[in-house]
Amino acid sequence: MKLRATIVVASHNSGKVREINSLLAPLGLEVRAAKELGLPEPEETGSTFLANATLKARAAAGQSGLTALADDSGLCVFALGGAPGIHSARWAGAERDFAHAMARVERELKESETQDYSARFVCALALATPGGEIETFEGEVRGQLRFPPRGSRGFGYDPIFVADGMRESFGEIDPAQKHAVSHRARAFAKMRKFLESGDAPA
Ligand code: IMP
Repeated sequence: MKLRATIVVASHNSGKVREINSLLAPLGLEVRAAKELGLPEPEETGSTFLANATLKARAAAGQSGLTALADDSGLCVFALGGAPGIHSARWAGAERDFAHAMARVERELKESETQDYSARFVCALALATPGGEIETFEGEVRGQLRFPPRGSRGFGYDPIFVADGMRESFGEIDPAQKHAVSHRARAFAKMRKFLESGDAPA
């Protein structure tokens, strides 16, 4: 089915919005950004990616009167007990300094004296209608962390993440290569299946 709706993307993170727009492009939807509509950013009080995606989508749908799509995502490092996880953005501080956040990951791994540099990116998507319907989708990609950070493509922790089966970091590869395997693309594939199944809100 073709969704005849305008969707508001409930994120103020420009790297994320760029990826979401290109992943939404094939669906032929009209996409508006939360910033453009002047929507406030709700506090992320949930304890899971799904809970935070849901609260962001519900808030944006309620405030805009449009179907809203929210993404809550992050990097989970196995040897750090899943950190930074839902705190991935917070590790970069108010200045969104990801060089600092990546240095903290490296330092904590060194302090833990682990040889295990495996990690995963997780993405939870929530689609909420102004009427209160909600659907969620989750995707992940596994890989290895590698220091120092490499590449200036992508955003956030991309320069230290090398997906399984790849040789270069997400910061070095072409965005199309990232979309072929990423946590966000995998969550989007599930959402797309749902939208095309005919059960989607119009
Ligand atoms: P939030 O979902 O807005 O709370 O923040 C997610 C944070 O996780 C981002 O600011 C990034 O630091 C990180 N993150 C999520 N997805 C990616 C990705 O695809 N590449 C690199 N970092 C990511």
